[in-house]
Amino acid sequence: MTNCKFRIGIGYDIHRLELNRNLIIGGVKIPYEKGLLGHSDADVLVHAIIDALLGALALPDIGTLFPDTDPKFKDANSIELLEKVYTLVKEKGYRINNIDSNIIAQAPKMMPYIPQMKEVLGKVLELNIDDIAIKAKTKENLDSVGEKRAIEAQAVVLLIS
Ligand code: ZN
Repeated sequence: MTNCKFRIGIGYDIHRLELNRNLIIGGVKIPYEKGLLGHSDADVLVHAIIDALLGALALPDIGTLFPDTDPKFKDANSIELLEKVYTLVKEKGYRINNIDSNIIAQAPKMMPYIPQMKEVLGKVLELNIDDIAIKAKTKENLDSVGEKRAIEAQAVVLLIS
């Protein structure tokens, strides 16, 4: 690994919305008629942040680290996976400078839950809430996200040694 002070990482994720699933985004349970489908709890924002952290370290992605073929990760709490990845960040001698992210969902409204998400993520990642941005976007009714069949998330992180 280069002996550089900064490392940047990008993460992206998408999960399908289905009936009879809990909707958990940013570690927060959001009341809605549907939830995200996945092997774990399918927390799309946390997965994007995990991939951004792993990307910044040039490590293999979340699917390689926590394979969905492994029963150990069935219904896994993504916040616990994030804790594991953050431990890797610290072991490599880095801390997080800041995170920027987007949740792209046509429904439900994310805005009311964002302060709570920032609190959860700040606690796990030892960050001030001023260093975590979570923006709520829609897809203007276009494509699968716009048709409320899926939710997407994107994240960028900056690590500093
Ligand atoms: Zn995911």
